[in-house]
Amino acid sequence: MLRGFKTEIYPTLEQADKINRTIGTCRFIYNLYLAKNKEQYEKDQTFITANDFSKLVNHEISVQEEYKWMKEVSSKAVKQAMVNGEKAFKKFFKGLAKYPCFKKKKDQDVKAYFPKNNKTDWTVERHRIKVPTLGWIRLKEKGYVPINAKVRSGTVSQKAGRYFVSVLIEIQGSYEQVELGDGIGIDVGVKDFVIASDGQVFGNINKTSAIKRTEKRLKRAQRALSRKYEQRKRGETSATYRGSNIHKGVLRVQTLQMRLATMRSAYRSYVVSMLVKTKPAFITLEKLNIKGMVRNRQIARAVSNQGFYDFKLKLLSACRKYGIEVREVDVFYPSSKMCSGCGHKKVKLSLSERTFTCENCGSSLDRDLNASLNLKQATEYTVLL
Ligand SMILES: [Zn+2]
Repeated sequence: MLRGFKTEIYPTLEQADKINRTIGTCRFIYNLYLAKNKEQYEKDQTFITANDFSKLVNHEISVQEEYKWMKEVSSKAVKQAMVNGEKAFKKFFKGLAKYPCFKKKKDQDVKAYFPKNNKTDWTVERHRIKVPTLGWIRLKEKGYVPINAKVRSGTVSQKAGRYFVSVLIEIQGSYEQVELGDGIGIDVGVKDFVIASDGQVFGNINKTSAIKRTEKRLKRAQRALSRKYEQRKRGETSATYRGSNIHKGVLRVQTLQMRLATMRSAYRSYVVSMLVKTKPAFITLEKLNIKGMVRNRQIARAVSNQGFYDFKLKLLSACRKYGIEVREVDVFYPSSKMCSGCGHKKVKLSLSERTFTCENCGSSLDRDLNASLNLKQATEYTVLL
């Protein structure tokens, strides 16, 4: 069984410099591979494989004086960037993804892959990890990554001036069998994040003051940064070193963006942990029509900030751990319009009606709780896990 771990590292200045150069070179190579392939395709509708491109780079490009720096970083990491580019094209050819895009520096979405060179590479100790070509790097959180674990592969990434390592680890044996209780249904939404049929309610974190305050600070930092760019465009020079205030502004924006993302992600993990805590026999949820929801511009931002897709991934991974069945109900299932007590279906239920009152049996309960109870009782569903 494989499990992924991502954790912050404290590289030395030299190590950080090497990481930055490796990531920069990988991004450059990835973009070059995309550009060459585009050119090639327009010329004679052919495709360059990662292997052929690697030969081209080694024999024609990196031998040039101006591209000498390509050879200063791990050649295996560079090769992996090409393989990733090829994978992106293959996904596109199969119709599974959009045409591959160029990687921008500011997106910070490039990971440097560090394959094993020798036996002791990727050794994990309590407080440090041995990254191929970089050596021992201190771990921020001690003991999080299992000590002496068998690491299959690992990458290093950088975000908002911080460094992270992601490792894929082989975990021996299966998880202990646990006694499972009654199943639950969960209603996922924008007003409240999750309402479970066992009565648990998890509000929308984006409505809390902590998030709102950070969002406000982010907006202010973004405005300040764009003002600095405007000044530069007009040719005004600042009193300090050219560009150093802009660098600070960029870092500030990135830090706040990351803080928000971390707070939201941590909340999703918390909700998942609370849901699986009672060890239900199954968890039923409605199939999320995220694309359809996001098309509605008014709620697009609210929906994307909730991170439903990430929530589902986290839920699936937690349920896999305990052997909890995950059921998904079709969007046409009338989870909100039906009475969970007697099955009576309402013809109309407006969004403003927060309480569900049944004309048939007279029962009255919270609209979302009613929906979650219906999901729990659903008899037609797809088993995801
Ligand atoms: Zn009823």
